[in-house]
Amino acid sequence: MTIPHGDWLHGEDYRILELPDGKVLLFITGNNRVLGVSPQLGGHLREGLHTLTPDESKEWCRLVEQGVISDSNRHRLASSTFSDGANLAINVNLTALCNLGCTYCFADGGDYGRIKGKMGSQTVGYIFDFIREHVTDTRAVRFEFFGGEPLLNFDCMKQICDDSDAFRRESGVEFIYRISTNLTVMPDGVLDLFAQKKFIVSVSIDGGRETQEHNRPTKGGGGSFDKVIANCRRVREAGDDITLVARMTVVGDRVPLVDNVRELIAYNLFDYFQIYPGVVPASHNGIFSTVITIGRGATARNAGAQMRKTGSDSSRKNTVDPSFYAQVVELFEIYPTLFSSGNRFRGVLEYERFAEMIVHGKMALSYCSGGRNYYTFSPDDSIMPCHRLVGETEFQGGSGKGGLTADLSAWRLSVDEHPTCSKCWIRYVCGGGCKQENYVATGSLTTPNAEMCKSQILLVEQVARMLSERGRSYANRNRVPLEDLFVSCGRPVVMNLRQPDATLPGDLHHFYSPY
Ligand code: SF4
Ligand code: SF4
Repeated sequence: MTIPHGDWLHGEDYRILELPDGKVLLFITGNNRVLGVSPQLGGHLREGLHTLTPDESKEWCRLVEQGVISDSNRHRLASSTFSDGANLAINVNLTALCNLGCTYCFADGGDYGRIKGKMGSQTVGYIFDFIREHVTDTRAVRFEFFGGEPLLNFDCMKQICDDSDAFRRESGVEFIYRISTNLTVMPDGVLDLFAQKKFIVSVSIDGGRETQEHNRPTKGGGGSFDKVIANCRRVREAGDDITLVARMTVVGDRVPLVDNVRELIAYNLFDYFQIYPGVVPASHNGIFSTVITIGRGATARNAGAQMRKTGSDSSRKNTVDPSFYAQVVELFEIYPTLFSSGNRFRGVLEYERFAEMIVHGKMALSYCSGGRNYYTFSPDDSIMPCHRLVGETEFQGGSGKGGLTADLSAWRLSVDEHPTCSKCWIRYVCGGGCKQENYVATGSLTTPNAEMCKSQILLVEQVARMLSERGRSYANRNRVPLEDLFVSCGRPVVMNLRQPDATLPGDLHHFYSPY
């Protein structure tokens, strides 16, 4: 029997996920939908669509007819442009100065040490010229204030905010304001500005006291935790419309990630978390010889222990902290229990973004907006497609004076045009990988970094598992604010136009709704 999409391949066009509780899920790459399937059908789908029984084939055909199984993502991507899915965003590198001496601030490929001096008025003028020329149809622009420690050049930041008011009056363009800060300095007027502009304040804090003091001491070796928490309280009190994000870097597991997250949530200050792996010398990492699977608990911890013991790819200088993946799996085990009515915590941004794509039929047009709708301005007046590539002149997109002049097509390559990503089952959730991480790992912007791919696959697997285990109460959480929060360097996300979720026919024997 010939069936629609009969040429789809397991691992490229769909993926069977076996959960620890014995349930089997089908992830459909073509529309980011997750369905529950019988273990028997799961086994057949693993082998290939040609092995389905007549009864299974009949149900597959019905679901294709109803649009439950489809390849909407491919069509949606093909009809999109590079300016779809995200607002124009400007990363403003305000200063090279920083007052902390973080233990992991040594990485190749980081932006540290690449910015020279402080931004001045001339660059601010160039920024608004650029906005005038490149604002997209949404007529909304996001500022990302960055450094060094951006609050060490507060005057310039304030000037940009003031100028944006005049620009808004003249052009009708709206602005969203976000800052990445260590929040150890609080210049006069900053709280009023945060409140007035409804800032998204992304605070670099790696966990509870022990972890923060270990990872992020002051340059003089003193502690930063008390000051950061005290300043978070002041920000929180300055306005309920300020969004506070705890931006955590995971380095080691002296204190487990789960405990660090719990400790920070208990302060009831943060609306969201972002959790990223720290970068460590490659000799500490065996990621290339260990595969992380959807397993949980002891399995995940064993995998982590194994990763710490095994060797590494010696061609790489720095790599993801080896304890990261197992700690993330542990966090997923308790993640839904972290929400409570008396606490502001509304989720880990990346996890919620993935859940939103699966539950609501959205897709990523790219991994980030770098070189599409997101540009970095620095005191040297360069325009870069990525904030972490400042100083790498071969990637320079243009200059403040001359505007965008470089060929940015590599930044706009879609997953379906890419030889590796086009065969990856999570391609329309991932969007094709961080080009800067690719460059550091492989020497090419467009050759995927294997570690990053594993990390993205792990997150998709864990989110699918969580949706199945936690049911509608987790699936139906309100995720509307995500559009404005610049998740994953502004990953452009759009509706994929799949058929809306509807109750599956009650007489199916092999498929069911998992949440
Ligand atoms: S970067 Fe890796 S995980 Fe992402 S789509 Fe490409 S191959 Fe898949
Ligand atoms: S995702 Fe990577 S390439 Fe894109 S802007 Fe961020 S750091 Fe740069």
